[in-house]
Amino acid sequence: MSLPTRKFDAVVVGAGGAGMRAALQLSEAGLKVAVLSKVFPTRSHTVAAQGGIGASLGNMGEDNWLWHMYDTIKGSDYLGDQDAIEFLCRMAPQAVYDLEHYGMPFDRNENGTVYQRPFGGHSSNFGERPVQRSVCAADRTGHAMLHTLYQRNVRANTVFFVEWMALDLIRDASGQVLGVTAMEMETGETWIFQARATLFATGGAGRIYAASTNAFINTGDGLGMAARAGIPLEDMEFWQFHPTGVAGAGVLITEGVRGEGGYLLNKDGERFMERYAPNMKDLASRDVVARAMATEIKEGRGCGKDADYILLKLDHIGVDKIEKKLPGIREIAKKFANVDPVKDPIPVVPTCHYQMGGIPTNYHGEVVVPGNGKDNNVVPGFYAAGEVACASVHGANRLGTNSLTDLLVFGKASGDSVIRYLKENPGHKDLPADAADYTMARLSRLDSQAGGESVFEVGAAMRRTMQAHCGVFRFPDLLTDGVKKIREIADRAARTEIKDKSKTFNTARIEALELDNLIEVARSTMVCADARQESRGAHDRADYPKRDDVTWLKHTLWYKDNDRLEYKAVNLKPLTAESFEPKVRSY
Ligand SMILES: Cc1cc2nc3c(=O)[nH]c(=O)nc-3n(C[C@H](O)[C@H](O)[C@H](O)COP(=O)(O)OP(=O)(O)OC[C@H]3O[C@@H](n4cnc5c(N)ncnc54)[C@H](O)[C@@H]3O)c2cc1C
Repeated sequence: MSLPTRKFDAVVVGAGGAGMRAALQLSEAGLKVAVLSKVFPTRSHTVAAQGGIGASLGNMGEDNWLWHMYDTIKGSDYLGDQDAIEFLCRMAPQAVYDLEHYGMPFDRNENGTVYQRPFGGHSSNFGERPVQRSVCAADRTGHAMLHTLYQRNVRANTVFFVEWMALDLIRDASGQVLGVTAMEMETGETWIFQARATLFATGGAGRIYAASTNAFINTGDGLGMAARAGIPLEDMEFWQFHPTGVAGAGVLITEGVRGEGGYLLNKDGERFMERYAPNMKDLASRDVVARAMATEIKEGRGCGKDADYILLKLDHIGVDKIEKKLPGIREIAKKFANVDPVKDPIPVVPTCHYQMGGIPTNYHGEVVVPGNGKDNNVVPGFYAAGEVACASVHGANRLGTNSLTDLLVFGKASGDSVIRYLKENPGHKDLPADAADYTMARLSRLDSQAGGESVFEVGAAMRRTMQAHCGVFRFPDLLTDGVKKIREIADRAARTEIKDKSKTFNTARIEALELDNLIEVARSTMVCADARQESRGAHDRADYPKRDDVTWLKHTLWYKDNDRLEYKAVNLKPLTAESFEPKVRSY
């Protein structure tokens, strides 16, 4: 079945930091670029980023990319690919300068240089002491970044399709990617976006969990589309639980609060991080802090009548600094926790925040899959950047501020790769006759299904199951049971019914399409977590409490067909630096 078709040199799906940085590179090169987004670009989830962008500018004291690289590899619990990590850390300062030249309103020092704050896991001289590496715009860094990139894209004539939802990837028989099918959310009309290159920048999928710092639009659409098109997902067992989500609400309190001097207390008023990380204390990496908090709560030292949260104290920082550097946090604390942090501590709990895994790419942003005896074969015409991609620079645990760096560095790199590819491959290839069939079959099932289950209830069951079976601490029986349950929920998701069948302004229809994506993410996470028999970074198993580099220093690849798993080697060879060999991690 055919659909109306629009043709572009490149289609970018996603208008967050990664998508807009990539699109800018392409549009400024004179290419015809479409950017599709479920929301207005500046409302993409990057807008929520608070604390900053990691780059070793050295504005506040000595710093360099090699220290940044060491911290990132150590933070990743040695699962990160060292070629990609070197690339990230070397390119980070230039990525920040580019943004500055586009007009980003960074916080400044008295001498006019860009201000930098400390962040968890970032150190000077290979772990000696915390370093000030995060550039920021108060606690609204993502907001400033999106506005800067949007305005620059408008100037470069990027064509935005706002409130358009990509539905499926189009591949031909050779596996080449030729675009996507997409629906205009207002009218329900479905089109083909034919492209010589397709770049996914659809962000994260934190909405598979019940308690999440992620926006409602973070439904893992890029992951679902890739999985349905036969592309594996990498390292999906690794989810970051941010130490400081507001208890009961999930809204994030940036690590920048601890960077500016805030710290955590248990019910006895003890600054307990001194016990868990004597050197970096509250600025240890996130997996370490989140686990310490969960342990305090588990052992009865949580606060409140149910002893189920920890307190984040920052009143000693002073009202002036809070107003200047953390104004958004004061607002969030008042609105969501009913406390004014200039006087009282904020109740916080570890909350699902970030996916380290994603669509496998190399450090050029090209999507790579195993085959013909090689781990990393490039899928022609297909690119990914940002949280949806797994380069893999975050490995088993991301350091705060490294995601925004990732968006900028790999957004640009993937744009550069597309430009190269288009020069070498001129002209559009013909679409296969069945290009839209898969999408039309999905839509027709949704529109004709009668007597099925409610989308909301199936989604809620998925979120509850993920939260209970695959959280900060993971237990063997809960994981095994979780795999069974999530497969049953996936079957239910295939039988959902939309009560209101109208196609216009139909949010239920959109939610059903999003559930198709979420369920792939949830299933891959549970299956991979059950399979990985060790504890590494954010993946903490009660039955295998230690990291096992002999058996498990490898990436997981999950395929949708029958939950098939494959593994591939971690790249321990940087581009120019010496390798950092795995060591015991302490902070
Ligand atoms: C509260 C919070 C604070 C954070 N603070 C920081 C920080 O200070 N520093 C840091 O480094 N990291 C931070 N992070 C992480 C970081 O913000 C994210 O990882 C990053 O912004 C993701 O950017 P992205 O461009 O990959 O995706 P997003 O910004 O999430 O954008 C995704 C885009 O894809 C579009 N999209 C999705 N699906 C579809 C579809 N099917 N069709 C069309 N469009 C689609 C969306 O509309 C959107 O435009 C924070 C995260 C949270 C939740």
